[in-house]
Order: sequence, then structure tokens, then C-alpha cells
Amino acid sequence: MSEVAIIGCGPVGALLANLLGLAGIETSVHEASRDPYPLPRACHLDAEIMRIFQGAGLANQVEQLVEPSRGMEFVDADGSRLFTYEDFERSPILGWCEDYVFQQPQLDRVLREGLDRFPSVELNLGSEITDLDALDAQFVVACDGASSAIRRGLNIGLSDWGFDQYWLVVDLMFDEDPCLPPIIQQVCDPNRPVTYVPSAYGHYRWEFRLLEGESHSEFEEHQRVRELLRPWIPDDGGEIVRAAAYRFHAVVAERWREGRVFLAGDSAHQMPPFIGQGMCSGIRDAANLAWKLKSVLKHGVPETLLDSYEVERRSHVERCIAMSIEAGQIVSGQVAKLPETDVNEVERWSRLPPLTKGVFSSGSDNRIGHQARQPKVRANGTSLLLDDLGGADWYLLSRVSYKTGGWCRTVLVDDLVDLDGSLDLLLAGRAAVLIRPDRYVFGSADEDSISELVDSAYQLMWGETF
Ligand SMILES: Cc1cc2nc3c(=O)[nH]c(=O)nc-3n(C[C@H](O)[C@H](O)[C@H](O)COP(=O)(O)OP(=O)(O)OC[C@H]3O[C@@H](n4cnc5c(N)ncnc54)[C@H](O)[C@@H]3O)c2cc1C
Repeated sequence: MSEVAIIGCGPVGALLANLLGLAGIETSVHEASRDPYPLPRACHLDAEIMRIFQGAGLANQVEQLVEPSRGMEFVDADGSRLFTYEDFERSPILGWCEDYVFQQPQLDRVLREGLDRFPSVELNLGSEITDLDALDAQFVVACDGASSAIRRGLNIGLSDWGFDQYWLVVDLMFDEDPCLPPIIQQVCDPNRPVTYVPSAYGHYRWEFRLLEGESHSEFEEHQRVRELLRPWIPDDGGEIVRAAAYRFHAVVAERWREGRVFLAGDSAHQMPPFIGQGMCSGIRDAANLAWKLKSVLKHGVPETLLDSYEVERRSHVERCIAMSIEAGQIVSGQVAKLPETDVNEVERWSRLPPLTKGVFSSGSDNRIGHQARQPKVRANGTSLLLDDLGGADWYLLSRVSYKTGGWCRTVLVDDLVDLDGSLDLLLAGRAAVLIRPDRYVFGSADEDSISELVDSAYQLMWGETF
């Protein structure tokens, strides 16, 4: 019997299996196909996701296949900037660039290969799960994608957010620099809304909204696709690797847990790709669920902690969906007033919302529920990112020594040299900051209230009903 069975080894299932493998949890992964899905889908990920890969011990491998993104702008039909969300090229706040571009099949491969490190993880390729009862595992996580048979089998419906558009997704590879804009563009052209993504290592993507009366089949011929690409590249530019119509829609599963079974990734939620957060949201699900499963299976925390998974993740996903729909409506000319160009706020690394409910201190620090800054430090003569000192579980960054239980490590500020000036910003005048295993700020404290802060985290995990 395994402690956890994962159904589906797309990016979400594979990342979850890596995190459980690191925790030494007996995990069986069942994947219907033999090879990762070969065509590019996701091509954008953000700093929090790179930080999660860092925690999974895969940052070096992932760094080889991503390139920093230069950001995203909304432009009119002539290419003139209407507005942009924020300054993407500022110094890293979470330890990584704000955004990256990549090709999903390469990432899927790295995540799968990462599993070879763990004797406790068994990957079963060509293993399609049709009967949940046949799975001998304490917990099951269904990461089986958008058309999840597991979700349907459990009679879990999808709530539909009413966004429904067909777009043609076109991917090209270029051997030479095609001299195209270096920044992601949302082209607000009323005659043909377009998303353009300069991706990594010669990969470029265009998404063209299909107009009323246009059929998908007319784009099966690449000649028609080339007509759409004509304002951007010559007819013989690049090699088309895929041109396919996708239905962009937004749905969320009504429940994310049924007894021992959890839904994660596309099986729990889907969103249009305008802000590139579909896979990222699934990766966050996996990071959230992984430390909670570890707490239950390895630290004896009551199973009720697992109820906080949906409490925390659903509202975050719903906000991402709202932002994706807003971006889709802007590019399609469906909003009367454009948002203001974002200002660069020192404490905010992204427009994404904080987590609002769940395993957090009730203190008043406005960083609670946000990703913690990740300073670059030197300790014992080695330069590294702070999480690497904090370890895989909770950590308390503290100006005074404080002994926590085995579930939480204390990192003493006095033992560190601040290499990028952000250690003080992370502490923000307080004596200590308590950081969760998924690197969200739990809370902070002055010297005389550190034990109160640490005790409240312990109480929430070992005693709370969510
Ligand atoms: C055009 C497009 C652009 C996108 N752009 C972005 C982007 O820029 N950024 C971003 O973050 N996201 C983006 N996404 C979304 C992203 O691709 C998905 O959110 C992500 O792939 C979902 O990962 P997953 O692991 O949940 O599901 P999947 O990748 O679909 O994996 C599910 C796996 O489960 C397996 N499986 C299914 N049923 C069973 C079964 N019964 N038994 C065993 N195995 C099973 C399947 O074979 C598959 O390997 C985009 C999507 C599209 C279509």
C-alpha cells in the first residue's frame, strides 16, 4: 500500500510526486501515456513557481530551459502601447526573475526525470486508472487534467464562469532571430484580437481569436495560418509546429476533496491563458497539498489540516480566473475603460493576490498570506538563497535565538551576511518572521511575542478545524 497515489503525471502530478519523494513518502504515480504530451501548451511561469522548483531541488535543471520574460503589454492594432501591468525587469523579490518563458514538453520531462531520485516514488507509465477502489493508497490526488475521469466519476460538477471563446493557437520554431518584439503583446485589435508570446529558445506563439462564422477546419491548411501571420513574419518564416483551435473557458470544480481523494491542477480548475496562470495555479496546488500531506503522514498532524487545502487554494484560483477573464475581455475590446498602468511597488512581486484564509497568524502584518521575500545571503562562507537554509519545512527567521520543535527550523540573522540588502526588508523592523513550507508569510513578531507566534502556528496545525 502506498501512502499517496497520484493519478496523472502532467506538470502538476509530477511536481507533487517530486515533493512527496523529497519527504520520503511512499508514492505511486499512475500515468496513462508513456511520454510527456509533445506539443507546447504552457509557455509562461512566474517567480513563485521557480521558487517551488528550487524547493523540489530542480532549479538548476529548470534554469537550463527557461528564459526570463521581458513582460507583457497591451497594444492597439498598430502596435502602440495602451498600458502594461508592471515593470518585469526589476531586481528579484522572491529570489527569481518575475517571469520566465519556456516550452512545456521540456519542463514536463525534467519533472518526470526528477522522480528517478526517489526510491519511495514509483512511476507507472501506461497505467490508466479507471477504478478508484482498485487504488491501494491512504490518499489519492487526481492530477488527471481538464477532462478528469476521476472528477466525473466522483460526480463533482464544474461551476462555469461564463467565459467561452475559440482561439487558434499557433506555435512556430525559428532557427534564426526573426526580429520580432521581445515582449509579450496582447493586441487589442477589434478586427482580430491576438496574443503574441516570444517564448524560449526559438519558440514563438500566436493566439488569434476566431471570428463569428470562422470554422476550425479552415485553419487546418497552413496557408490560411500563414495569412494570419503575415503582419508579423514573411510566409517562409519559421516552422509551424502546431496550429489548433482551443476553447478558452473558465471552470472550477465544485469540491476539491471527496474523502481520501483530492483534485489538483486542471482537474480542479481551468482558465483562459491570457495571464499564463493555468499550470502555475496547479503547481501552487501541488506545493500547498504536499506540505500538508507531509505534516499528516510524517509529523502526526490531524487530517483536518488537509481541509485547509481547498480553503486556501480556491479563492486564489478564483482571483486568477477573474484576472485572466479581465485580460481576455480587454484584448477582445469588451471593457469600456482600460486599467491604469501598474506602479512598481517595493513589497509586491506580482499582481497575484495573497492567500486570505487558512493556516495564518491572526496578526496585523499586512504581508501575512503573501509570498515571503527571499534574500540572497552568505552563511558559513557559501552564497545561497534563504530558503535553502530554511529547509523543506517551516522556518523562523529570527534576530534572537529561539528553539522550536522538530517541525520548524530557526535561522538566526546573526549567522547571515545579507548579499542583496533584502534581509531587513523581509524582517520589516520585527524580531522574527515565520515562513510556511510553501514560503508564504505565516506572521511576524517582536522579541517578546515570538513564542506566541510559533505556538499559534502549532495550534492551528495540531488543533484547528477548517
Ligand atoms: C494553449 C495553451 C496555453 C497555455 N499557456 C499557459 C501558460 O503560459 N502558463 C500556464 O501556467 N499555463 C498555461 N496553460 C495551461 C497548462 O498547460 C495546464 O494548466 C497544465 O498543463 C495542466 O497540468 P495538469 O498536470 O493539471 O494536467 P495535464 O497536463 O493535462 O496532465 C494530466 C495527465 O493525466 C494523465 N491522465 C489523464 N487521465 C488519466 C487516468 N485516468 N489515469 C492515468 N493518467 C491519466 C494524462 O495523460 C496527462 O499526462 C496553457 C494551456 C493551453 C492549452
